[in-house]
Amino acid sequence: MRKRFIAGAVCPHCHKKDTLALWRENNVDVVECAACGHQMREADKQVRDQVCSQEQVICIFHPE
Ligand SMILES: [Zn+2]
Repeated sequence: MRKRFIAGAVCPHCHKKDTLALWRENNVDVVECAACGHQMREADKQVRDQVCSQEQVICIFHPE
C-alpha cells in the first residue's frame, strides 16, 4: 500500500508538522500521524474537509 506524506499538514493530536501520511484502504482515505499514531478516516467525514489529497497542496488541520 502506497503512503504519501501531506506537505505542511499539522497533526491535530500532537501538533507536529509534516508527519501525516495518507493512503487508501478499502476505498477509504486513511490519514495517520507517523509521530503519535493518531489515525483518521474519510468515513469520519471531517477528514475530507481537512485533508487535501494532492501532494502539491499545503494542507492544514484545524483541531476542533
Ligand atoms: Zn500526531
